[in-house]
Amino acid sequence: MTRGDGLLSHDLLPGEKGPQDACGVFGVWAPGEEVAKLTYFGLYALQHRGQESAGIAVSDGRQILVYKEMGLVSQVFNEATLESLSGYLAIGHARYSTTGASVWENAQPTFRRTATGNIALGHNGNLTNTAELAERLAAQVAESGELPLGQMPTSSSDTELMTALLAAHPGISIEEAAMIELPKMRGAFSLVFMDDDTLYAARDPQGIRPLVLGKLETGWVVASETAALDIVGATFSRDIQPGELIAIDSNGVRTQTFAAAEPKACLFEYVYLARPDTALDGQSVHATRVEVGQRLAREHPVEADLVIPVPESGTPGAVGYAQASGIPFAQGLVKNAYVGRTFISPSQTLRQRGIRLKLNPLREVIEGKRLVIVDDSIVRGNTQRAIVKMLREAGAKEVHVRISSPPVKWPCFYGIDFATRAELIANNQTIDEIRESIGADSLHYISLDNLIEATNVKKDNLCRACFDGVYPVELPEPELLGKYLLEDDDPTPAGLITSTAPAVIGAMGQP
Ligand code: SF4
Repeated sequence: MTRGDGLLSHDLLPGEKGPQDACGVFGVWAPGEEVAKLTYFGLYALQHRGQESAGIAVSDGRQILVYKEMGLVSQVFNEATLESLSGYLAIGHARYSTTGASVWENAQPTFRRTATGNIALGHNGNLTNTAELAERLAAQVAESGELPLGQMPTSSSDTELMTALLAAHPGISIEEAAMIELPKMRGAFSLVFMDDDTLYAARDPQGIRPLVLGKLETGWVVASETAALDIVGATFSRDIQPGELIAIDSNGVRTQTFAAAEPKACLFEYVYLARPDTALDGQSVHATRVEVGQRLAREHPVEADLVIPVPESGTPGAVGYAQASGIPFAQGLVKNAYVGRTFISPSQTLRQRGIRLKLNPLREVIEGKRLVIVDDSIVRGNTQRAIVKMLREAGAKEVHVRISSPPVKWPCFYGIDFATRAELIANNQTIDEIRESIGADSLHYISLDNLIEATNVKKDNLCRACFDGVYPVELPEPELLGKYLLEDDDPTPAGLITSTAPAVIGAMGQP
């Protein structure tokens, strides 16, 4: 996984892809501030949530300008671009694709004209009733006999569909349209959107993905994670509640409830996805991960000489494991901090020669030692297999692997792209078979209940579906799910909303 911040450990093998978050969102309403630059820095802090494309929409109260492009935030924007995006409210988006291919047309924020102005929107999450919504929109279009501008989706993402639905209400405001449309959407959606003079934020009734509100001296900020508030100098105000829509304009912050809250926050955000310097539901992610490591040590102790993290995402768990076990903590693996910046993969021949692009063992630390290696999760097992082999080659006497989450057995349909079910190693192998497959002397995972207790969130208020297969938001038939559901060659009713002439008036992005 190429995460621009170099925080994580699933990308240690060339070509190996770890769990991918479905986007980071940011919004700011602050007259007198350089809102495009604030959004840029906010997105920079959220880069780990999506590295495929980035975009910013800005309004000066008269028109919305959008700039979006494929690539990392630092590659998409420069001083000149940001200077040209002037206004007093902005939203931004860093994308990893879940519904809709990774192409410019699906980059966000989306933009379209409405009967009452313009709308731009950014989405973190993934809808589960995309096909049903697309069918309804198509029927609406067919009934009206024409294609009003607001009803013409111009790309194949569920976000574009949401934008079209919000825009398809002539005669009422975006805020009123949102109160009609949001209750009909299912799945995970943490949204930031804007019209020409108002910033909006909304979170699905389960609050699956995080979304927070922060205060600036001169205005307000919304962001996927509290770490993005810190980076722009905003103070944390509160979480946007599940089922809540907020609107921010010159009258301040208005709040409405569009659906009753049924909290099911994503447990995997605590394990791996969120930054360690973020707080989820008021609790530090780093502190939670350290506590999980302590619990892991008590649940699965082992005689060893050193505890070594798989950098960087295994580090807090390893710290906790060392604290609770009394076994010294050591850095035994060095990660190249710039590894996320290269797009050149080594050839198969170079891989077979054992190229260590991303990680190198510290032989003098490892040699002759019995090691406990702590990692946050196992997806396919390839990364852990490579690490165990590398440690043995560097002279480790024993390698014991401890994982600070339970086995990942089920796919996620709420915005995280792990792998297919068949690719998940724990889906078809026992823990002992996995141990053998990765070549470890022992392998243990923390239990689900122990992990949940460390979060201080009630079990019933968490989504744990990738661990226990209990999906909190009903899923449609498998053929009505999937990344390419709305692609042009899809013959389903969703195919009706294929590409038409772009309605991106005022946008500056270049296809
Ligand atoms: S299935 Fe797993 S990754 Fe997806 S929302 Fe639930 S806990 Fe999070």
